[in-house]
Amino acid sequence: MFKKPLWLECVHCQKQYGLEQVRYSCDCGGTLDLKRDLLQLDGEQLKQTWETRWQNRKRGIYDSGVWRYKELIFDVDEQYIVTRQEGNTRLYNAGKAAEYAGIENFLLKHEGENPTGSFKDRGMTCGVTAGKFYSANSVACASTGNTSASMASYAAVAGMESVIFIPEGKIAYGKLAQALAFGGKTLQIKGNFDHAMQLVVEVCRELNIYLLNSINPFRIEGQKAIVFEILQQLDWQVPDWFIIPGGNLGNNSALSKGLQELYQLGIINKIPRIAVIQAAGSAPLANMWKQHTPYEAVQEPETIATAIKIGNPISWEKSLRGLAWSNGVVEDVTEQEIMDAKAMVDAAGIGAEPASCCSVAGARKLVQAGVISRNESVVGILTGNILKDPDAVIGYHQNQLGHLGIKGTYANQPQLILPTVEAVRQALQAG
Ligand SMILES: *Cc1c(COP(=O)(O)O)cnc(C)c1O
Ligand SMILES: [Zn+2]
Repeated sequence: MFKKPLWLECVHCQKQYGLEQVRYSCDCGGTLDLKRDLLQLDGEQLKQTWETRWQNRKRGIYDSGVWRYKELIFDVDEQYIVTRQEGNTRLYNAGKAAEYAGIENFLLKHEGENPTGSFKDRGMTCGVTAGKFYSANSVACASTGNTSASMASYAAVAGMESVIFIPEGKIAYGKLAQALAFGGKTLQIKGNFDHAMQLVVEVCRELNIYLLNSINPFRIEGQKAIVFEILQQLDWQVPDWFIIPGGNLGNNSALSKGLQELYQLGIINKIPRIAVIQAAGSAPLANMWKQHTPYEAVQEPETIATAIKIGNPISWEKSLRGLAWSNGVVEDVTEQEIMDAKAMVDAAGIGAEPASCCSVAGARKLVQAGVISRNESVVGILTGNILKDPDAVIGYHQNQLGHLGIKGTYANQPQLILPTVEAVRQALQAG
């Protein structure tokens, strides 16, 4: 059973629905939020509960960086919870990437350190838990890669079947490898992500399969824990900015929802600004934002950052609501800017997949534009692991991405030498 008053509410028309039945969207077509009665909660007490759980980390559900915050995730009987102790990711000094962005106080939250290598695990523990609660035997998603890797893993843990819809063309090898390895039934669709997304919604309805894209309101609840954990790591001191990549726009919606709840509970007393960064070739939100035009999907999205190669993001409305609340901004970055920023994140010894590095590329751009000032405190979210997309890394460092218009500006090429000390000496001297 779900405990405490919880209900679903339409982002668009505010119509409310109970949780007795599976539902992903409103009758009006709007996306849904999971809502709770915050008046029943005491902020001070919650902070103490979370602190105690943090200090007493042992095996069990509170060892999860999501379920530690159960009161603001959703309260469900423990028997339903499917967890891989996700979260508990590190918050790094950005080092070289901070210099590159031109920010003195720049931290990077590495969500690529989750069990399957991306933040998707935080949402997936909740989505699969909800699926178990609703007695689902099969789960499905459309995915550019990380959602499928995560879903296949959590479904395997829960003993469910998983069905994956991936777009045709390039999918990062690390992600495809995981999906296959974890036993996901993988269907490649002739079309892009947006086509796969449309299809999976229909398939789930017709074939009674539980849908686990970020349209699923429970997933968003889990992703809120990224910001809960960051703030706990910072002793509840709120930075001036959060910077986050935007694809389907679920994660930044979760970020603002989480912050809003903390603010309403008095756990934080300052509203940080949120910057959402999109790849220029897949930037419906940035287009809308910068040109002050109505929402319009991008028909042929393109970018090397495949995790955010999405032309018709499902959560654009939720995203705008969060941006309005946080006095946020949207920016877009070019392919070259993404890969150069990635080279800096990697060279800092941290490393992340291309989409993640929009956070750093966007930070640099917003500093140069005078939107973020050098002495403001900034936390960037790195969404995925460096090993997810080795092709992009090798392509950049071998300077072989010319066909995509990308130069290996900071390339670190391997060298072939003779097996002699003299050859090594020469190679080292050449720098
Ligand atoms: C899913 C994903 C994103 C985009 O998140 P949205 O919630 O779709 O905006 C960004 N980076 C990585 C690595 C991802 O896996
Ligand atoms: Zn509605």
